[in-house]
Amino acid sequence: MPMDEFFEWLECVVGGFALVMLACAVLLLDTGCGALPDAQWSGPPDGWCQSHRCDAEALVYTAAGEGIRDILEPALERWSAATGRELTTDVQAGIPVIWQEDLSDGEGIEDCANTPTIGWPNHGEVWAQVIRLDPTPPPGCPTPAVSLLHELEHAMAPIARHVEMDSLFASSTGPDYRHIDEPALERLCETFACAAFQPEQ
Ligand SMILES: [Zn+2]
Repeated sequence: MPMDEFFEWLECVVGGFALVMLACAVLLLDTGCGALPDAQWSGPPDGWCQSHRCDAEALVYTAAGEGIRDILEPALERWSAATGRELTTDVQAGIPVIWQEDLSDGEGIEDCANTPTIGWPNHGEVWAQVIRLDPTPPPGCPTPAVSLLHELEHAMAPIARHVEMDSLFASSTGPDYRHIDEPALERLCETFACAAFQPEQ
């Protein structure tokens, strides 16, 4: 890790407040400092879990924007039914789900939504920091409700890769309504402890 990235990481770690953390999580996406130095590999790093529970399994979410609860609760119900796990909301202790305009990746590609993470990808230890939804996504994006369903899989299984077929968990999910389909659920349950396997179709 280059020194400038290390200092950005340090800056993020010393930030004590939830808002600072959110700002840092946003910063991380573009700087690549979402990967931490190996020496620190020992569970979620200090200072990163102050805005929400930072369990290895992402089960609790916080609707942190107007109208988000309306799409978050049905999405969590659907994932709960599909996985047999209890996914819930909390007013402040969950992984925040926020609105954010213009989710540019810095290379001219605009995301519909994304889920910045922090951790040690090489060791399979990664935690979701926040789910960001564009309230006015670019053309070709699904509705924010469908994007949220997709991003929740990233939050539950941060090291899971997209599936290479038409699916809720393809890199491009398309504009239509999506079931929690078998390929998406299969990919999730490879790294998330599913208690059931109930795809919606
Ligand atoms: Zn994705």
